[in-house]
Amino acid sequence: MKRIFTSETVGKAEETVKVAGWIHARRDMGKIMFFDLRDKDGLLQIVGVPADLGEEGTKIAETLRPEWVVEIEGVVQKRGERQINNKIPTGTVELLAKKITVLNEAKTPPFELDKDTSAVGEDVRLKYRYLDLRSERMATNIRNRNKVFQAMRQFLSDKDFIEIETPQLTKGTPEGSREFIVPSRLHPENFYVLPQAPQQFKQLLMTSGVERYFQMAKCFRDEDQRGDRQPEFTQMDLEMSFVQEEDVIGLIEEMMIKVVENNYPEKKIQQKPFPRMSYAEAMEKYGNDRPDLREDKDDPNLLAFCWVVDFPFFEKDDNGGPSTGSGQSWTFTHNPFSAAKPEFESDLLEKKNVENIIAPQFDIILNGFEVGGGSIRNHKPELLKAALEIMGFEGEQIEAQFGTMLQAFEYGAPPHGGLALGMDRIMAILQNEPNIREVIAFPKDGSARDLMMDAPSALSEKALSEANIEIKK
Ligand code: ASP
Repeated sequence: MKRIFTSETVGKAEETVKVAGWIHARRDMGKIMFFDLRDKDGLLQIVGVPADLGEEGTKIAETLRPEWVVEIEGVVQKRGERQINNKIPTGTVELLAKKITVLNEAKTPPFELDKDTSAVGEDVRLKYRYLDLRSERMATNIRNRNKVFQAMRQFLSDKDFIEIETPQLTKGTPEGSREFIVPSRLHPENFYVLPQAPQQFKQLLMTSGVERYFQMAKCFRDEDQRGDRQPEFTQMDLEMSFVQEEDVIGLIEEMMIKVVENNYPEKKIQQKPFPRMSYAEAMEKYGNDRPDLREDKDDPNLLAFCWVVDFPFFEKDDNGGPSTGSGQSWTFTHNPFSAAKPEFESDLLEKKNVENIIAPQFDIILNGFEVGGGSIRNHKPELLKAALEIMGFEGEQIEAQFGTMLQAFEYGAPPHGGLALGMDRIMAILQNEPNIREVIAFPKDGSARDLMMDAPSALSEKALSEANIEIKK
């Protein structure tokens, strides 16, 4: 007999079926045993009666403990009116067990999996993440994450976007953060870096004539762990050609509304179209550039999106520049590749009035969190060069770090722009979770460690020497 999922038992009353999964809980009522069997779809009540199980079957049933893996054949029965359980999808039926096969036994888990695990110490949950993910809340989080990703992929495919994977082993692009470096075994003394974002590649894809690109992209940033950050995280990264700010904003707004309304019908978007304000207005009115506009901050189903637009292109940099550390005084606020608004283009070219240059850069804010941002880019090499020079990059540095882009733009780059959405943050808000670790299957802890796999960890002498690495004691 072919195994079916628990959810498929509904509507199969009187049929003999086979289900499989984990023993979630057991309740003994005298001679009758009740089990909750859990599979990917949720729970199904199993009834074990000695008369149906026989002597041997009853013995097996008596040994079953939580988290044992079993296969059960039996007859689906409609539950009586008063036995219906609306809390589970299979609540109108139960399975009268005829045959139980134990596929694997289980030790007692380090924490209870039939309850919400949020109160359990996070170190234990992260060490045993594969168990934590069995709990209902965590399983729902990762399943709903997939649904949102699929909905976005579908929406974008319908609009002619194609998903393209860009390299993970690559060369750095400044995105305002430190990069993870990967030593090259084949090219001693040389390094790859992991991308902070696919920025250069997506712009090069516009130069390639792709016109509409997106990617559910892994991004890596080697930052000190401030607050709720992860060293690797996921962005919905997008770029499109022959567009203006309005086109990118309009597209993303349409997508977010559609995804929320289809996937989270219980949620309410406070204002449509999303309100917009300039960076200057946001700072003046709210004192920050990610205002929380929710009218009722206690309503878990209220989503207040807004756009903050017209960001200044440059800001003073106290640390001495994005990558050179040479004490230059201007850095980018968003992205070194942004354009200037048309009225500021001549200022950009002449490198004057720098502090007032406004860029077509925009952030999307949700309930007080910046959940994404993007811009229209400089597609003319001379404008890109001027922006880089304002930020203190000089001749050879420009060549070394941005040479490919500048060269590519000399071969007919279309005007283009795009953005990236922080998918982990968006999912945390949609799932009403307090931090992004709750919506990532295998996150790092607050100090960037993977407690389950024990990473980072030391390497053998052999591995180090092959990678041409000597450890400084
Ligand atoms: N690459 C930018 C980021 O990661 C987003 C963008 O401008 O498209 O923040």
